[in-house]
Amino acid sequence: MLSVPLWIAAGLIGPCLGSFVATAALRRTTSEQVAFGRSHCDHCGVALSYVSTVPVLSYIRLRGACQACGARIDASHLIGEIVGGVILLSALAAASPPRAGLLAALGLTLLASSVHDLKTQRLPDSFTAVVAGCAAALAWLQSEQTFWLGLVCACTAFVALEAMRRSFIWLRRKPGLGFGDVKLVTALALWLGLATPWAVALASLMGLAAALRQPAERRLAFGPWIAVAAWCVGLAGEARLWPSLT
Ligand SMILES: [Zn+2]
Repeated sequence: MLSVPLWIAAGLIGPCLGSFVATAALRRTTSEQVAFGRSHCDHCGVALSYVSTVPVLSYIRLRGACQACGARIDASHLIGEIVGGVILLSALAAASPPRAGLLAALGLTLLASSVHDLKTQRLPDSFTAVVAGCAAALAWLQSEQTFWLGLVCACTAFVALEAMRRSFIWLRRKPGLGFGDVKLVTALALWLGLATPWAVALASLMGLAAALRQPAERRLAFGPWIAVAAWCVGLAGEARLWPSLT
């Protein structure tokens, strides 16, 4: 049973980490200095006071607009803060603190990938490489057998999804699934193992529902749906709520 201070700390640190990760991912899309620049308005560039950067509360207090120029603050900041909190708290709920730390690193990297994909329709290889590293470490810490099984599932997922992607291009003359999506699922399969098809199915259902709600000519960013589905299926496995064959 975890102590109350640990839950409170996770609830406070999570939104700050989520805010940092979402901002860094947004800045990467505009080639801005990623990590060390002072928080500022994306429109007028005015530096934000520390009171204006308190996660969630500042956004509500400022009603989602810059105090200096009145321009709308990108909702990705608020979503990043909330998701950061959810990631840390759900990781702690599903696993013991050391393993939850590794899960949180995986979840926050998925958050960065999702923000980047929503803005640019691209999943950076560097983020996917971090996801693969965390996923492999989680499997290895479980057992050596889980690690090798994860590796077999990752190779199978890559071959199956890449075959599907190429068939789609050959049949329809346009890409359905992005190569970045294939690489992200492959990285996550190291952790998800035999549960990978369930995560892919859940991501496809959510992606399809999202695609029906947006204009047909706009390409859907599938990365965020892969991230959400993998997080739900993976954490259910961590919490032993998912039937595991290993
Ligand atoms: Zn401004």
